[in-house]
Parts: sequence; C-alpha cells; structure tokens
Amino acid sequence: MPLLQDGEEKVLRNIFTKQLDAHPPQHQHQHWAQICSGNPTNRIRGCDRYGCGNFGADRHSGKEKHAGVDVICSDGATVYAPFSGQLSGPIRFFHNGNAIDDGVQIMGSGYCVKLVCIHPIRYHGQIHRGQRLGKMLPMQKVYPGIISHIHVENCDHSDPTHLLSPDVPPLPQQQDGRWAAVCAGNPTNEIRGCDKYGCGYYGAPRRSGKGRHRAVDVICADGATVYAPFSGQLSGPVKFFHNGNAIDDGVQIQGSGFCVKLLCIHPIKYNGAISKGQVLGRMLPMQRVFPGITSHIHIENCDHSDPTSNLERGKGQ
Ligand SMILES: [Zn+2]
Ligand SMILES: [Zn+2]
Repeated sequence: MPLLQDGEEKVLRNIFTKQLDAHPPQHQHQHWAQICSGNPTNRIRGCDRYGCGNFGADRHSGKEKHAGVDVICSDGATVYAPFSGQLSGPIRFFHNGNAIDDGVQIMGSGYCVKLVCIHPIRYHGQIHRGQRLGKMLPMQKVYPGIISHIHVENCDHSDPTHLLSPDVPPLPQQQDGRWAAVCAGNPTNEIRGCDKYGCGYYGAPRRSGKGRHRAVDVICADGATVYAPFSGQLSGPVKFFHNGNAIDDGVQIQGSGFCVKLLCIHPIKYNGAISKGQVLGRMLPMQRVFPGITSHIHIENCDHSDPTSNLERGKGQ
C-alpha cells in the first residue's frame, strides 16, 4: 500500500537519494525505531480514565481530536530518537510549567515529529536513529493512574501510527527473556539494597539467618503503577502475610515460558490475560506496615528459582 501520492513520493525519493549519499544505508528505514525503553514495539496507550491514546481519539468531551499518538513509556524511562534528524525546541504542550511540560521536535529522514512529555538531552543539533534522546517525565505526578506515555505528533498533524510499527516483528517472548519494567519510576527494575528490615537480593538472609529470601525485591514507591513483566494468564489473589495487613495482596502471572508471583501490589484483576508492559495494578502502602523500608514489589518465581537475570533489562546499554 503506497503511503504517499506519486508526486510526493518522487520528491521524497529525491530527498532520500540525497541522504543516501550522506549517510550509510543502515539509516534508511521505512519505520521508526523504538522510542521508549521497555516498549520495543512502540505499543500505543489504550484507554484509561483520562482518555485514549490512538490518533483521532476524543479530547475535551469530543470537542477536539487527539492529533498525535501516545506511545506507552514508564516515568523515568530512556527515550530514543525514532529517526535521524535535527532537533529543535523546547516544545511545550501545556504551557503551564507542570512536571511534564517539555519536549522536542526532530526533522529529518523525510519526517518531522514532536515528542512531548519528555526531557531531551538537548534542544538543538543532530541526532541519530536509535540514539538516546532523553528521558520520560513523571507523568504520574500530573495524572495519577494514567498509562504513562510520550505524545508523538507529526508536525503536519497527519497520523504517525503506521510509522511506529517495527521494521521486523519482535522475536517471540520466550527468546526475549528480559522482562519489562514492573514499576513506574523504576525503568531498570532496580533491586532494593539493604535497609533496617533486611536486603532485597535473591538469597538474602531472613528470620535471623534461619531462612533465605527466595525472591527479589524490585523498588517501587507506594501507590506507583505496576506493569506486567511478560504476557500471560493471571491467577490470585496471592497473599504472603495472611494477616490482612495493608500490603497483603498480590497476583501470579503464568505465560511466555515464565511463572511469577508479584506481592504487595493490588492488581486490576485476579484472572484473565495480561500483556507485557500493560498496567497490572498499583503498589500497596508498604510504609504503613514497615515505616522507613525501601518500598518494593516482592517478585518470586513459582519454582523459587532466581529471577534476577530476567529483571536486569536495559542494563549496560
Ligand atoms: Zn497524546
Ligand atoms: Zn521480598
């Protein structure tokens, strides 16, 4: 299916031919690169209580339409350039100086796009496809419970959806063993260190050295949004304390070759399917039960093996 009219295509082909002289062939792509770490397929925000993420979705009670596409991105996640081009900015959307009122434009490779709700590493100069462009701003601070996302808008307000799908379909998840970020604000699944209640790594001593921690504690602020680390079927509730305290809730996910229990979270549901990176629930108020602890999701493989290597996504990139 041609994306452009014949005349436009000829003009663009000339531009591409010129760029082919200046850039090595690996910079020629029909689709954009991954924009946000943890979202390799540029998955688009569905609907939440603030609205929907697709192009043309209703805004302001139907009086306006969404002129962009919202690409799911956890707060604090690394953002990459979708194509090579020249930066300009800052691009502001809200003009009220809130925590997410920043962004940048990229023009080049035959495209022009605005990426909003991110903080770029700079506002000017050249950037290359796939290069680190900045970081996702704390959207949860402004819209608690929203599916955090980068607002991606073509400069001519046309629909960028078809450009966001990957060049090559991603490998099946069994082969991509790395899990998605499980907590908003912790894009690299940082593991709890040690505090006065204990340590968060696999095998840490428990119960005065009589037991071992057969799980990993991923840092997660009380109330933060929790995401599914991989696609699978939910079951639960899964309880750890069995005393009805404020954090005695959790869920199991089985699928994609994995089975894991996520504890101290309140899931959106206890059964049915969930997709990798989808909102799974929210972090329970751990500070109420353990004041001063490093709040965390307790993540336990169903077979009690060590999940650390699956959690260490995006490290050393
Ligand atoms: Zn948007
Ligand atoms: Zn734990």
